[in-house]
Amino acid sequence: MTRETVRAVAEDLAAQGVVGVTVVWVDNNGISRSRTVPVSRLESVAERGIGITPLFAVFDSLDGITFGHDGLGTPSGDIRLVPECDRLVRLYGQPGFAWVPGRQVAADGSPWPYDQRGVLERQVERGERLGLSFLAGYEMEFQLLRPEPGSEQLRPTHEGPSYGPLRMLAVDEFAEQLLRDLGGNGIEVNQFHGEYGPGQYELSIVAADPVTAADHQVLARQTIHAAARAHGLRASFAPLVELGQVGNGWHLHTSVSRAGQNVLSGGSGPGELGPEGAAYLAGLLRDLRAVVAVTAPSLSSLHRRRPGYWSGAYDFWGVENREAALRLVPGSTLVGAGNANIELKPSDASANPHLAIAAVLAAGLGGIEDGLTPPEPVAQDPGTWTEHQRSERGIAALPSTMAEQLDALMSNKRIRTALGEELADAFRAVREADVAWAAERTDAEVLAAHRWLY
Ligand code: GLU
Ligand code: MG
Repeated sequence: MTRETVRAVAEDLAAQGVVGVTVVWVDNNGISRSRTVPVSRLESVAERGIGITPLFAVFDSLDGITFGHDGLGTPSGDIRLVPECDRLVRLYGQPGFAWVPGRQVAADGSPWPYDQRGVLERQVERGERLGLSFLAGYEMEFQLLRPEPGSEQLRPTHEGPSYGPLRMLAVDEFAEQLLRDLGGNGIEVNQFHGEYGPGQYELSIVAADPVTAADHQVLARQTIHAAARAHGLRASFAPLVELGQVGNGWHLHTSVSRAGQNVLSGGSGPGELGPEGAAYLAGLLRDLRAVVAVTAPSLSSLHRRRPGYWSGAYDFWGVENREAALRLVPGSTLVGAGNANIELKPSDASANPHLAIAAVLAAGLGGIEDGLTPPEPVAQDPGTWTEHQRSERGIAALPSTMAEQLDALMSNKRIRTALGEELADAFRAVREADVAWAAERTDAEVLAAHRWLY
């Protein structure tokens, strides 16, 4: 955007009563961070950015700063947070504010290796060089809680039948405002429904190009929190809110096209996968463990992922198999071939969405470049099989400890390279800092500490 256009945008916002612009990025814990500037400063900030510490790359989930990554070992230095003004949105539900995603650049304006946005842009460009384009879309599950009258105690908004209209009625005014605000903020919604767990709801967003999909997920978080606050509710996006409950998955759907044709459909492979679509899927499966270390990275994620919960506990794929880590949703005659997509179940709010989508695309593109072929799909739940039956089919549980998960990430050159070596190592360091923090705490305390982070 030219300087003149930014000035015109700022003047227009001011005329509409907007006073502040909040520049947002998501850190390596999946936590949104921000700086708000008066609208009169937008023009200058668009040009020069806002000074922030380089250490945000090594903030852990509990706001501790780890020096466990060599590249960011001192408190000295400054980087700049630059708003992506062409993505600025006036917040429909917070009329005094506008929202804009930020890019982190080095103090001299050059690329900053820890900028998560840039990581995703690189994978999109890599696809473009191969003649491929992508769509991505998130489903966001969350729990809505309401204070008990006269107490600080929070209770799920509804305990009744899953998926029912009574569950929506319990949050009627919130639901109405949310749909209105999302529309006003430019986010297209597929559907919104009461989910399975107590007080659990799910919002799915219409698929878009990968960077927009990541940005919209971040904006949708803000929109949900604002609407919840306006109606005296609190929204928890934590992968697991309470021990023993169902988790909150933020399933990530992607599809790949060449020359406008979705390569996940129209072929003769299982589920009608075309050859490139099959290779994309096989690439995802090959790198699944490292991908999941990025898409469901936290201690809370490890608690969420259990067999039998549709959260993707085992490394296999299936056609419409909801227990599979990778579920192929074929494009039927009814919904159209273009709608075929692959859903990644081990994906949640503790992931940085830009990094998460980048890791998925990197794995899939690797599969296409190497011409991989996937194994046969599985229609059952391997969690009900014996260990022997699983190993005969080459199926294993995804990591259940952080050490295993980090080992999967750091030993995978393809995914590490996609993140960039510096960022990958900073990511490892913050995960290890989370583990050190949790060492003396109970599982319940760990989950409680993650409950309101996202
Ligand atoms: N709540 C489940 C999860 O943790 C997903 C349920 C569903 O497939 O909608 O991912
Ligand atoms: Mg769901």
